[in-house]
This record gives sequence, structure tokens and C-alpha cells, in this order.
Amino acid sequence: MLRTVSQRLTLWYSLLFAILALAAFLFVYVQLAAGLDRQTDERLQAKAREFARTYRTRGAQGLKIEFATEANGAGKRRVFFRLVGPDGGLRAASDERAWKNLVASLAQHPVRNMQIETRHIPGRESAVRLLSKRLNDGSVLQIATTIEENQDLLEDYRETFSTAFFILLACGGLGAYFISRRAMAGVRQVTAAAASIAAGHLDQPLPPGNHRGAEIEDLAAAFATMQRRIAALIAELTTVIDNVAHDLRMPITRIRGMAETTLSGENNLAAFRDMAVAVIEESDRLVAMVNTILELAQIDAGTLPLPDEVVDLAQVVREAAELFLPAGEDRGIDLQWQVPTEPLFIRGDVRGMQRVVANLLDNAVKYTPAGGRVDLQVSASADEVTLMVSDSGVGIDEDAMRHVFDRFYRGDASRSTPGSGLGLSLARAIVTAHHGRITVTSQPNMGSRFLVALPRITPPAG
Ligand code: ADP
Repeated sequence: MLRTVSQRLTLWYSLLFAILALAAFLFVYVQLAAGLDRQTDERLQAKAREFARTYRTRGAQGLKIEFATEANGAGKRRVFFRLVGPDGGLRAASDERAWKNLVASLAQHPVRNMQIETRHIPGRESAVRLLSKRLNDGSVLQIATTIEENQDLLEDYRETFSTAFFILLACGGLGAYFISRRAMAGVRQVTAAAASIAAGHLDQPLPPGNHRGAEIEDLAAAFATMQRRIAALIAELTTVIDNVAHDLRMPITRIRGMAETTLSGENNLAAFRDMAVAVIEESDRLVAMVNTILELAQIDAGTLPLPDEVVDLAQVVREAAELFLPAGEDRGIDLQWQVPTEPLFIRGDVRGMQRVVANLLDNAVKYTPAGGRVDLQVSASADEVTLMVSDSGVGIDEDAMRHVFDRFYRGDASRSTPGSGLGLSLARAIVTAHHGRITVTSQPNMGSRFLVALPRITPPAG
């Protein structure tokens, strides 16, 4: 029944409201009742002092007259006075007729110095307040008065409060319901938007809110961010799938083309042999590409545990440079390297580092025309080892520089050179997995410079 937050809020708010209203009522009621009692008692005491004075000055007879006057003035049913002598004999009293029951009960009532009490008398609807006072000569003065007005007043108060209480509770409950519904309106909006995202409407923006409150705005903002992120991921996924499909189709088409040409051509063994060799080469390239794609995905997802080896980056770079020297020479490129003789250690995967260096070197050689130059440099600070690969090649323009590390990105000028557009993204994934950074600076037609910085570790003992 109390399924929604609004309903629960309304219930709690109304309960709290009712408890507070009741507490306030009780407080005022108790104060009011005590105040009324005090007032009555003060009046009784003043009257008692007045009568005692009269008794002293004018005796019982004077008191009798005053009792009658006072009783007539105030109403014989409303007040009653009497004076009882020390011997128990009645000395003076106002009209007793309306007070017989009280008088009967007073007989067995011992009186100390002075006392005030409330009495319920049979035959009377409302209680009476009774003052009894022992005077100096031992006689007892008694004054009774109805407290009907006080009780009527308190009853009025109770009735007024109970009516007001239900009206207030109804208004408060309704108010609480509307306020909480309004507060939850933003949540409902965001929920509807989330449901719409879940239904696949990723491009639908969240409806702008008006005064929904900071919490709801934060929630909406978090949803909007999530929505953008999902949209971006899906877009990236679509691009990657497009590129993979495209890049796989080309070699497969080539393989098919070769097979077709061979079949329709001269039927000799040499032609079939050539085709087989070409098919194997294409297949190897395909497999390498698929492996790189898988590896990239695994590194990005963090599912591939990074080997925890101590790697001497200086040695890795030296070996790579020596490996690439012949290729550079073949293309008329001057390959130079400056690598310290002492080992520079990092922690991670030797094979991964070899691939990073090989990819950077391969690109440098690939994108540098004959007569150009490629430089390799390794240096170290206290906590970082830095590798720099620079070339005097074709360079990269500003726009392309933003994308060179993206998967499958290939510069316009690179279409003629073989490659998959995966080398730099793999290099970046490996470097990032090693807690390092890879950056590029370049100027078109002047050359490019790639920098890789990795956390250095102190040489292991031994
Ligand atoms: P690939 O070399 O297979 O095309 P990469 O991911 O290694 O893929 O490089 C992405 C793109 O970055 C290349 O297509 C090329 O346009 C550009 N690039 C990378 N290295 C260099 C470089 N040293 N000089 C000029 N352009 C480069």
C-alpha cells in the first residue's frame, strides 16, 4: 500500500505533525488548567482573609450578614460559606439548600491549618473548589465555589482543538502529499528518461528541469553523462566494427582474387605454388591483425595480466635499433641511436616494450623518405625513463595528430604504405598499462617526434 516514497513521506510527515500538534495542545492545556486553578485559589484566599477580618471585628453575627450578602451577590448555587465553632457547632452559614451534600460530607472532615481541595459532590455536574481555614480561636471557616466556568472553558478548548486538529491534519497531510509528489516529479522524469535510454533512444536528451533541486539535477547530470558515454562507446564500437570488417575484407578479397586468377589462368604447378605462397603471406598478415585487435581489446579491458618483469629499457632499445638498421639502410635512411651503457630499469613486460619500440621505429622508417634521418634516444631522471623516437619524415598535421593513437586511424598520406592503423593504438595501450605516457609532436614535412615516459625502478639487488 505504501509503495511510493511520496506516500511514505506523507505518512511520516502527518504522523510527526499529529504528534507535535498533540504535544503543543497538551502543554497549553496543562498550563491553562493550572492557571485557572491558581486564579480560583487566589480568589478563595482573598475571600478567606476578608471573612477572617470581619469575624475579628464584627464577630459571628457580622460574618453571617456578610455571608448572606456575598452569597446573594454571587449566586446561592455558586458559592457557599460557613463558620464552625471549635466545639463543632455552626456559627454562621450562607444559604445551605443547594449545598446539602457538601455539608453532609464536611461533617467527617478534620481540618488542619488551611487546605484547598477539589471535590465532586453527588448531584452536581461540575466539581467545586473548597477552602477550609482554622482561625485563631479554633473555629473553622469554609468557603466553597463552583469551578464550572473553568471546566467549561477547558472543555471548549478541548472541543476547539479536536476540530482544528483534524482540519490541520487533513491540510498538513494533503500539503505533505503534494510537496513530496512535486519533489519526486524530477525523479519520475529521470526514470522516464532512463527507461527511454534503456529502450534504445540514446540520442534523446533529458528534459530540462525547472527548479527540480540540486539532488535531482545531479542525478539528471549523471544520467546525461552516462547517456553520452554509452552513445560514444556505441559510436566507437560501430566504427571499430566497420573498420575491422573493411580491413578484413580487403585481404580476403585479395586472396579470393588470387585464387580466381590462378584457376582461370594457365594450369601449371608453378602458378599454383606462387598462389599458395601469396595466400600464406596474406593469411599471416590477417592473423597478425586479428591478434593485434584481440590483444588491444584485452589490454583495454584489463583482462590481460601484465607480466611483472624487470626490464632494461636501454637494452630493449639498443637491440631494436640494431634490428632495424638494415631496413633503414635499404631505404637510404640514416638511423642513429644514443643509449646509455648502464641499464635503465622499468617494471613490466619485455615483449610489450619490444613491440612499442618496434612500432615507433617501424613508423619512423616507414614515413621518412630516402635520405632522411631517424634518431633514437633513451634518457632517465630519478623516477622516469624516457624514450624519444624522432624522424625527419613527412610529419603529421595538427588534425591528424589528435587521432594517430585511435584504433584503425591511418593518415591520408599513409594509404600507399602498408599498415593497419593499429600500431600506435597498441603502443599507447601497452604504455598506459605500464603507467606511462606516450605523446607526439610533429610538423608536416619536417618530421615527427614520439616520446614515451615510463616509471623508473631502482636496480634490483644482485
Ligand atoms: P599504420 O602505421 O599501420 O598506418 P599506426 O597506428 O602505426 O598505423 O599509425 C597511425 C597513423 O599515424 C599512420 O597511418 C600515419 O599517418 C601516422 N604516423 C604514425 N607514425 C608516424 C611518423 N613517424 N611520421 C608520420 N606519420 C606517422
